[in-house]
Amino acid sequence: MLNSAPVSAQAQPIPGSARDHASSIDYDIEVSIDPETRMLEGKSVITFNKTRDHILILDARFEVTQALINGMPFAPETDAASRAHVWQIPYAILRPYQLEIHWRGQLHPLDDTLDHEQTLGRPVAVSGEAGTFLPDASNWYPRVTNGQIHYTLQIELPPGQRGLVAGRLVEEHDTESEYRARFEFTHPAAGIDLMAGPYEIATDHYTNARGESIQLRTYFHPQISALANDYLESVKRYFKLYESWIGAYPFTEFSIVSSPTPTGFGMPTLTYLGINVLQLPFIKDTSLGHEVLHNWWGNAVYPDYKTGNWSEGLTTFMADYAYKEQEGEDEAREMRLGWLRDFAALEPGQDEPLIAFTSRTHGASKIVGYHKSAMLFFMLRDLIGEDMFNRSIQGIWGMQRFKVTAWPHLQRAFEIISARDLQPFFDQWLHRAGAPDLSISEARQESIETGYRLHITLTQSEPPYQLRVPVAVQTESGKETHLLDLQHTEQTFTLDLEDKAQSAILDPDIRLFRHLAPGEAPPILREVMVNPTTATVLLSDNEETKNIAATLAEKLQRREPQILPADQPIPTAPTLVIGLHHEIDAWLEAKNLSAKPDEVSEKGTAQAWTMTTPEGTSLAIVSAQDNASLESIIRPLPHYGRQSYIVFDGRQALDRGVWPIRVQQVAVD
Ligand SMILES: [Zn+2]
Repeated sequence: MLNSAPVSAQAQPIPGSARDHASSIDYDIEVSIDPETRMLEGKSVITFNKTRDHILILDARFEVTQALINGMPFAPETDAASRAHVWQIPYAILRPYQLEIHWRGQLHPLDDTLDHEQTLGRPVAVSGEAGTFLPDASNWYPRVTNGQIHYTLQIELPPGQRGLVAGRLVEEHDTESEYRARFEFTHPAAGIDLMAGPYEIATDHYTNARGESIQLRTYFHPQISALANDYLESVKRYFKLYESWIGAYPFTEFSIVSSPTPTGFGMPTLTYLGINVLQLPFIKDTSLGHEVLHNWWGNAVYPDYKTGNWSEGLTTFMADYAYKEQEGEDEAREMRLGWLRDFAALEPGQDEPLIAFTSRTHGASKIVGYHKSAMLFFMLRDLIGEDMFNRSIQGIWGMQRFKVTAWPHLQRAFEIISARDLQPFFDQWLHRAGAPDLSISEARQESIETGYRLHITLTQSEPPYQLRVPVAVQTESGKETHLLDLQHTEQTFTLDLEDKAQSAILDPDIRLFRHLAPGEAPPILREVMVNPTTATVLLSDNEETKNIAATLAEKLQRREPQILPADQPIPTAPTLVIGLHHEIDAWLEAKNLSAKPDEVSEKGTAQAWTMTTPEGTSLAIVSAQDNASLESIIRPLPHYGRQSYIVFDGRQALDRGVWPIRVQQVAVD
């Protein structure tokens, strides 16, 4: 299920030494596809310029009609398990040599009921009049499995259909009888993904930092073609941002391509996004920038998938997170807090060291591979300063363009530019799972001649991290933040102040990746939606009210709710409580809990809010005026999981918000 933002799945280059031979294979394809019959016919001419063992694979559903090596017949073997066609090209063969393969077959029908996760998990070549998607990993062409290629590709489609692959468009014929286009990709490519559909093409141009013209295009389905201009304008904005921040855009074009399935893929020179995704108004301001930035990080500087993928974290930091910083400090802090909250919600065993992240396979890997990684870059910028950070970024771009790049390459660039030893920093954030638990265990002060001397003791879990911990000290005259260099599990720091300290607050702006203290994060409605142990209490005796409430609980939790009788004590698991106004008020009073908060009280026709009991149980309370009001929030309420409270008038959200963060604050005597 795709939530607010699509994720990007980078086409994975073959890791390791294969790249050294990258420039040795020239791959030339001609392919014609008829989406109506789903028939594909292709011809590959592959030139190997150096001798090396190579393996080519073509999916079993295709028939090989001809295969030659340097003009001599060269029949494929059949893989015992997958029935795929396999060509093993031995080392000691004449060089250079050329393979020519002709193949044909019928593609799978397009299944537009698949969601993004399913599309990711199934590299299947599909075709239909609404769209054709041939992912490289589906082996839709005789694919070189152990080496990168340079390619040219010519695609032929019936009239009305248009298609593309990554690369420079060198030729295009669009007539009443056919569509034909030729592309060339001159950088080392991991493979070829092909897309086609009943596209309307809109074209624009951008002049890059070197004064070269970049062709911008949208390939949109007719129902969203009106969105083309706005998307093209947004792309230009992102180009400007990233060219000035990193360096000139490294390719000759960029296209946004719509997909009939709700996917989100980024490839060099293009991004392939679901029609439903492109229709969301915020995508231009969020995910699009992320995908554009992947043309620097991921598609031009290649992550080394064997030793960990840094590109999602850096892209998240310089796109999704950077846009929040542009909005304001509160918005940026909110995003960091969200990352820590998601991290805190991981089940034991789901957390892995960042170095183990290669690509996104499930929600937990996103929390580490995207968010913890983005937080690493955030903390690194805090440590070395923005200027050094940006210069390092430009240094990495200058040195590593079109090269496989591992974490140590990044570390070295940051170390050279900032003239610092960053080994402990990278070691602890890359190689250790988890995060530090931090607290202020003691804060006391004495008066001295110039004012006050404050002693603050910080403690952290074993083994210690090396952290620069922001501690804000509140005095009568204001709040001042001090950075304390914590190296041990317990350490006392001394600060001389002019004014008497009232309290000390640990990391109030959430600038460290750490375990949130219990109760530190404001509770949000999502907890009772995603926690599998959530209990549900329905307060009404009225059958109709109860049925509506049970349906609401089921929609929120996306499963059969575990319903507990109303007269029982509140369980320790997160609990969802649903009732009509008078029932809720009576229940809160009977349980000795605080009454409705002012933010929701007496407002609208239905309200929902979170609270924590004195015993620490998270509650989400839903209170409605009558059955009709309760029924009308069944559809909208599940969309507001990130809120702490919300007020509805009918199905319309009137007001909503997140309770303020409860910082770890220690009073100073
Ligand atoms: Zn990404």
